[in-house]
Amino acid sequence: MTYRPSRVSQPRPQRERPIAAQLAALNERLEVAERQHRQLRNTVSALGRELGATVGSPCVHCEESYLLIKDGSMSCPRCGYRESL
Ligand SMILES: [Zn+2]
Repeated sequence: MTYRPSRVSQPRPQRERPIAAQLAALNERLEVAERQHRQLRNTVSALGRELGATVGSPCVHCEESYLLIKDGSMSCPRCGYRESL
């Protein structure tokens, strides 16, 4: 058997953009993400108020959600962690 080097298709190097352009693009994405985060936080807070709940700190167990504080206890809607206050 003859050894055949597997043909790994190398991704064609993209035309390198100048660092300044990359930074500008990243900065734009960051600003969009920050704005969306603010909008979502405001929406979640408003929803919480309507439900009589307060949005607390991030869940220390899963860190995937903020805790909801309602009726004397706080709970994580993501992992189910619950603790009385
Ligand atoms: Zn959690």
